[in-house]
Amino acid sequence: MEINRDQLVKVVPSPRDFIFLDRDACDGCGNCVVICPMDLWKIRKGQATLASKYRGSCLECGSCYLACDRGAIDFTYPPGGSGVTYERT
Ligand code: SF4
Ligand code: SF4
Repeated sequence: MEINRDQLVKVVPSPRDFIFLDRDACDGCGNCVVICPMDLWKIRKGQATLASKYRGSCLECGSCYLACDRGAIDFTYPPGGSGVTYERT
């Protein structure tokens, strides 16, 4: 079965950032890259980089935050009225 994300998820981009990376703490292990279901993390020059347009794609699963053993990722939720909504159309 093929899953079409656009039929299941609606995202209203957050007006502010809700994921923050502490570059000094990141050791480039890649856990965030492996676990993100939306492929929003990359390793560049030995450090994690979050996609610049993540606010429009992030599923707010918090997996990157949980997978980071170094505590380099700070995750909150977008303000009310923005972010992801799961729905069946
Ligand atoms: S999981 Fe944490 S330490 Fe590892 S690459 Fe991602 S941000 Fe850096
Ligand atoms: S919260 Fe989930 S979807 Fe969003 S960047 Fe982290 S792992 Fe990816």
